[in-house]
Amino acid sequence: MPSLSDSFLQELQLKTDIVDLISSYVSLKKRGNTYVGLCPFHNEKTPSFTVYENTQSFYCFGCGAGGDGVSFMRKIENLDYIDAVKVLAQRAGMQMPDDGYDDSLSKKRRVILQINRETARFYHNYMMSEQGKVGLQYFLNRGLSQKTIRHFGLGYAPNNWDELFKHLKSKGYNVSDMLAAGVVRKGEKGYYDYFRNRVMTPIIDVRGNFIAFGGRVLDDSKPKYINTSDTLVYKKTNEVFGLNYAKDSGKDSLILCEGYMDVIAMHQAGFTNAVAGCGTALTNEQVRLLSRYAKEIILVYDNDEAGQKALNKAISLFDQVDVKISIPTLSG
Ligand SMILES: [Zn+2]
Repeated sequence: MPSLSDSFLQELQLKTDIVDLISSYVSLKKRGNTYVGLCPFHNEKTPSFTVYENTQSFYCFGCGAGGDGVSFMRKIENLDYIDAVKVLAQRAGMQMPDDGYDDSLSKKRRVILQINRETARFYHNYMMSEQGKVGLQYFLNRGLSQKTIRHFGLGYAPNNWDELFKHLKSKGYNVSDMLAAGVVRKGEKGYYDYFRNRVMTPIIDVRGNFIAFGGRVLDDSKPKYINTSDTLVYKKTNEVFGLNYAKDSGKDSLILCEGYMDVIAMHQAGFTNAVAGCGTALTNEQVRLLSRYAKEIILVYDNDEAGQKALNKAISLFDQVDVKISIPTLSG
């Protein structure tokens, strides 16, 4: 277990007002001595989520979630203990103690995020080099501009077995961390790059962390898409692609698309509030995340059978949260 000093934690608690903290995520109304709002941890339309100012704690009578400020941060931002404390300390303007507190899980997560960032940089630079121009050509053919390609950090994974593996090794990363990040795998003949000969889209969370990748083939071969499996820093059912940009779009609506490429094309066309759920089907967790950032969700799905099925599922999920949905009628 991490060992932060009691005095540090006490000071952090004094400087963190839980009503203030939770208010930045949940719209709270004062009711007597407490505050109530719609629970961010389960779907509901009438408030059962309660914040107690005097004990600096929260409790939900609907799902049983409860605790102090640190547990709220852990749960809402999907952080481990140390990272939650770090976010709160930063918010309170406090310096974290230098060492002696970092637990191994927290360290591991940090290294995975570094590996992902380095991997994204590698794929992008490779695509911009002579050897990677087949990838660049793919995106240009899809109508993307160089500016959009840079903005989303798009890249190309080499058509070789271990180009990335060698690169990460040269940067000093060890194999077990590469495996934990999911970018390298172990086979009978040794280690190999998971993504090969694919155009790559990095998935970035709302805090700007590189958490995963989506890879698409350049032709019609199968499987068309492969994505990072769940890791210590990525749970696909919880994540939304494009939200890191869309949250700053200045609009109080989000446009929910089906795929990453749809989102990227929308942003290029000026609709910077476009997003897509990670994974194949929209989940409750993603719906809750989206409803935290928007008052209205505009559902843009393909007009084919699969698209309409996904649309119906989305409608039923959004029906359980307090957000307006609209479905534009597309001609053609
Ligand atoms: Zn709840």
